[in-house]
Amino acid sequence: MSRTHKRTSQTGMGASLMKKHFGQHLLRNPLVVKSIVEKAKIKPTDIVLEIGPGTGNLTVKLLEKAKRVIAIEFDPRMVVELQKRMQGHQYAKKLEIIQGDAIKIDFPFFNVCVANLPYNISSPFVFKLLTHEPIFRHAVVMFQREFAMRLIARPENNLYCRLSVNTQLLSEVKHLLKVAKNNFKPPPKVDSSVVMIKPRNPRPEIQFTEWDGFIRLCFLRKNKTLGAIFKQKKVLLMLEENYKTYTALKNIRVPKNRKTMKEMVLDVLEKTKYMGKRARTLDIDDFLFLLKNFNEADIHFA
Ligand code: SAH
Repeated sequence: MSRTHKRTSQTGMGASLMKKHFGQHLLRNPLVVKSIVEKAKIKPTDIVLEIGPGTGNLTVKLLEKAKRVIAIEFDPRMVVELQKRMQGHQYAKKLEIIQGDAIKIDFPFFNVCVANLPYNISSPFVFKLLTHEPIFRHAVVMFQREFAMRLIARPENNLYCRLSVNTQLLSEVKHLLKVAKNNFKPPPKVDSSVVMIKPRNPRPEIQFTEWDGFIRLCFLRKNKTLGAIFKQKKVLLMLEENYKTYTALKNIRVPKNRKTMKEMVLDVLEKTKYMGKRARTLDIDDFLFLLKNFNEADIHFA
């Protein structure tokens, strides 16, 4: 019933460090468990990937709905707990437990993902989900409230940031459920929220490192105008470096009297009328449009 990933075995770690490291806050309110499982809209034919099953509070309910559940759990002690709980269980055969770090190991094929994970790995976990292939139907994930709000934030909202833009480029995100901290044992410091992440299918045709490099710059100082950000010396130097690499790779002949990078960049911002705009007011179509114009001027961000 279980596979082991040797590299992630955690023997010999001090108890306090262990607790912190694994971020274990078990869901103790059955109503919240029920609600999460309902919102995951699992079909009898579905393979469900559960990350961080812990003692299996969600797992047993998922097993009632799904064809199969594959659970990835980091903590070997939790794996043992879960195995004990499943002994002689009517659905024991439907469960596969993989012991390992969900951030590091390759995910198996799945239709729906469900996770109540430690909050310190929220960012890499979301990124891993968003770039996972083949595209799955949706994920229902518990996050710290503020992190959840950043995922779903729209332009002009205080929490709108690079994470919001990247997430919404690759998926549709929706807030499902507020979960107060007293629903967990032990209770975390802050409240949580359950979020639905539905990957866009097909995925937008975009070179993600290029896009992310661009978005990172735009949000460098989210209250500054793009004009002010792109005029910075170190930004222009970086773009100039990228330009040299790009033209060399593509065998593009650079004329001797070419414009400076500053002129090239300002031309694009002026032409597109984004010079005085701020990242916090722009939506995904704005960013896509602006990036396209930069790229057409041979300006690249990765
Ligand atoms: N889903 C359970 C447990 C939540 S606590 C419930 O809701 O009751 C979070 C669980 O994630 C713990 O069991 C913890 O050991 C596990 N975990 C922490 N980091 C992990 C990682 N990187 N990969 C997989 N599981 C992890």
